[in-house]
Amino acid sequence: MAYDLLIKGGRIYDGSGLPSFLGDVAINQGRIVETGRINADADRVVDADGLAVSPGFIDFHTHLDAQLLWDPIATSSCFHGVTTVIPGNCGLALAPCKEQDQDSILRSFERVEAISLPALRAGVEWDWATFPQYLNRLRGRLGVNVAALMGHCALRQFVMGDAATERAATAAEISQMKEILKEGVRAGAIGFSTNQNPVHMFADGRPIPSRLATNEEIIELACALSEINKGVVQISRGSLGVSVPAVETVKLFEEISSKSGRPVIWQSIAHRWDKPNEWRELLNLAEESLAKGIQSYPLCNARLFNNRLTLKNAQVFDDLPTWKTLLFLPLEERIKAFRDPETRRKLRYEAVEEKKPSRFSRRWDLVYMIKAATPANKHLEKKSVAEIAKIRGQDVIDAFLDLSLEEGLDTEFQTSSTNGDEQAVAEIIRSPFVLVGQSDAGAHLIYDAGFGYATRLLGYWIREKKIMSLEEGVRKLTFMVASIFGLPDRGLVRPGMAADLVLFDPATVRECEPEMVSDLPGGEKRLIQKANGIEMTIVNGQVLVAKGEHTGALPGAVLGGGNGSSLQAAA
Ligand SMILES: [Zn+2]
Repeated sequence: MAYDLLIKGGRIYDGSGLPSFLGDVAINQGRIVETGRINADADRVVDADGLAVSPGFIDFHTHLDAQLLWDPIATSSCFHGVTTVIPGNCGLALAPCKEQDQDSILRSFERVEAISLPALRAGVEWDWATFPQYLNRLRGRLGVNVAALMGHCALRQFVMGDAATERAATAAEISQMKEILKEGVRAGAIGFSTNQNPVHMFADGRPIPSRLATNEEIIELACALSEINKGVVQISRGSLGVSVPAVETVKLFEEISSKSGRPVIWQSIAHRWDKPNEWRELLNLAEESLAKGIQSYPLCNARLFNNRLTLKNAQVFDDLPTWKTLLFLPLEERIKAFRDPETRRKLRYEAVEEKKPSRFSRRWDLVYMIKAATPANKHLEKKSVAEIAKIRGQDVIDAFLDLSLEEGLDTEFQTSSTNGDEQAVAEIIRSPFVLVGQSDAGAHLIYDAGFGYATRLLGYWIREKKIMSLEEGVRKLTFMVASIFGLPDRGLVRPGMAADLVLFDPATVRECEPEMVSDLPGGEKRLIQKANGIEMTIVNGQVLVAKGEHTGALPGAVLGGGNGSSLQAAA
């Protein structure tokens, strides 16, 4: 046979942004060998008539570090056409890690990424200490490709022990971290991630280790990457412009990139109700950095940030001190506090009257009751708290708290604090230098499921809202990501490139509503998300998913080193 796999008669969106064209794609030994009109035999021929054929999507912001150990195909990402995932974001990673720090490292994911601790404890079988060992643990057992970042929290904990959550690092500790980082990147990490988000903490309220890092420490670590001329820096400081003016923070991102010469990917540009024009200022600042030739790229999300919450388990109020304190109280005390009129006065002030910036929008017309815990309140489902308050003849805070109290704090609500203004979001997504995708796949398991950022972009924003061409959308999901993150043999449909492909129907592609399942280790719950219109996900020339079903193949590889020199064998 001439080829292993031949995809016939699709419309090829090659990832470059150039006009799409009708043609075939031939694959041998994991690589694309020809495109055009191909008349030859193949072991398998796929009819792609009516379908788009594009490079596989690269989900560059995931927290799948642990999930990949028990779920090598990275559900639900693979169902949305994702062929490569990047774990290790936001400073969090499972390596390097000494034996005595294992539980602390698991706990760093517990609240920040809202991954159930029992599931982590049941699912993570530690048989590594170093980052190269962690990558070896993944190799040969992957359905999707993995290009991993080294997390600053793990690095600090490894070098400093428990002092990592207490103080700045000494010069000696920083130089030790630099050596370990370089070793990891040489072995296949694609860079490092750090996180100074002021609300990122352990479940007991202690800060995660990377929050204690000074700017000098971060710049030093970035410069370790420049010594080997490899790797990117991913950085999150939380909601920009809350404690420090946004312009100062964006200048810091610029400084990290200009001093190290490495690409910086920073978080993020979004529309916020409390600062409705800030996104435009951030876009301008990003453009100024790039105009100077500095590789400092913002990212954005193609969807609303939905947050599900009950008063048993909620993080949306973390910026409001009284709310936050109450939500950390034992249940009995919490219920008592919610009943107390004086406490309610404070809660009302913070969540209705106060003007201080907060991730909670204070828009009670945007907080929806999605699931009643008692049949008596079923009729209130899908109504906003503002509407429910009118029906009950109460103010919003009394309505919200009383309803929850009546139902033992099990009433489920949903709200979105960011990306509510569609015009603003469309402009952010359209910007040619903003990366699209902040899926947080593998995280916030019971609050939200963001696996479908790519299908959202293709279905909602491109097909329905027509905010950009399909060619441009595909470029943003593929070539742009591969180029910035240093994966040079990914992200294009061209001879010589790795055969990571997705076949989708542009007329039907979209993300589905998240569904709650109990498929985590230990039977823990999480939200999953399926897709419509994704016909086939192909990884390194093998079909991983066809019509939403895993084929059983495990063709994924660990990519990396930041040089992407060659396709690394899965075995
Ligand atoms: Zn993250």
